[in-house]
Amino acid sequence: MKTPVPDYLKHVLSACAANDKGKLADYIPELANVNPDRLGLALSTVDGTIYSAGDDKVEFTMQSLSKPFTYALAIKEIGLIKVLEKVGVEPSGEAFNQISLDKERNIPKNPMINSGAITTHSLIPYKKTVPRAEQIRRFLSALAGRELSFDEQVYQSEIKTAFRNMSIGYMLRTVGVLEDDPKEMVNGYIKQCAIKVTVKDLAVMTSVLANGGIQPKTGKRLLDRSVVRQVLSVMLSCGMYDAAGDWLTTVGIPAKSGVAGGIIGVLPGQVGIAVFSPKIDEHGNSVRGLRIFENLARDMGLHLMEGTPSAQTILQSRYTVGKKNNVVVYELRGVLQFTESEMLLRILQDEPAGKSTIVLDLTNLSLIHDVGVRMLFEGVDRLKQDGYKVVVVDSEGLLDKEQLKGRKREVVTEELEKFLEKFK
Ligand code: GLN
Repeated sequence: MKTPVPDYLKHVLSACAANDKGKLADYIPELANVNPDRLGLALSTVDGTIYSAGDDKVEFTMQSLSKPFTYALAIKEIGLIKVLEKVGVEPSGEAFNQISLDKERNIPKNPMINSGAITTHSLIPYKKTVPRAEQIRRFLSALAGRELSFDEQVYQSEIKTAFRNMSIGYMLRTVGVLEDDPKEMVNGYIKQCAIKVTVKDLAVMTSVLANGGIQPKTGKRLLDRSVVRQVLSVMLSCGMYDAAGDWLTTVGIPAKSGVAGGIIGVLPGQVGIAVFSPKIDEHGNSVRGLRIFENLARDMGLHLMEGTPSAQTILQSRYTVGKKNNVVVYELRGVLQFTESEMLLRILQDEPAGKSTIVLDLTNLSLIHDVGVRMLFEGVDRLKQDGYKVVVVDSEGLLDKEQLKGRKREVVTEELEKFLEKFK
């Protein structure tokens, strides 16, 4: 059996592909030259599995997607207290490039808008031979698990028209938030924005955040849990700028957008998601990216206010019965949401050939989410296509009438032990 998750991602992409609203971020001249039809999506689990679809190998510049990671690096290097002295954590409700400061404290309101991000950039420790942007590139490369590079053309192009960011820089210098040459700081910030990634890179990077700071593949801790919590909190309240409230209610996961068309989202303990589609709306957020996130959040039950902490494992035990040991029983436990369903489907995918019947026992599940039911039966159908007989044991009556429709033959409601007797 093949897990249906990649097909699902493709399906989400095609459902959003027809939307041609929005326009390219032409205030950075080079960004007006990209192919506006590009569309890519990648998703990572907290155990490091990456699924992707569409233009998943196309590189684009991070732009503001670099802000949360740079914020993380600043906290990691100089500590949260020092960072909070220079940049607040309040949503601004303003555009990302607003020339404004927090009225009471005279510092940028948060690190997700340009004034806060230029300030965060200035806080990164550097050496004469290794400038701040290069320090950031190295850190982002460690998160992505490969060497990332700068897009020199996009960088040069933005520098030429960076009047607004320069005025933010001079404002910050005037009030003493920036302590060095504002021009150098703004240039460095723009360079940090020009780091190139693919949606797959971003999925790996967000998996570290979803996994509490540990790189899932290597098991190496790259960020403290407390740093991750700080970054995700600020992404949740400020990541989508003046559309943050709308985003929080409709999608409901910590996220960040960039004007090159990327959006990343992180559901703690569950998944990291990255999309790319270059046309953006008036807030600077990718139009098709927003739709994709809305679909994913709705269909996969990913809204933060809906999700419960995910179980570490879904499988209680797997054993075989029957005279020829050709009946495989999977006893499931815990909660069946997207993450656990993905895990289960992946385990089933590896089921060795040669068995005749697969029994999926739901008795010890405490909850089964809609997405869990859908993915479970999608797996059942695929196993059947592969020639297995499949039986779902629902002795506790977890599945409701609607969910049982058309499934009468595959679902039994008797106790597992009783059901297995006939094979003995
Ligand atoms: N480099 C861009 C700028 O400063 C980043 C903005 C963004 O992605 N929202 O304008």
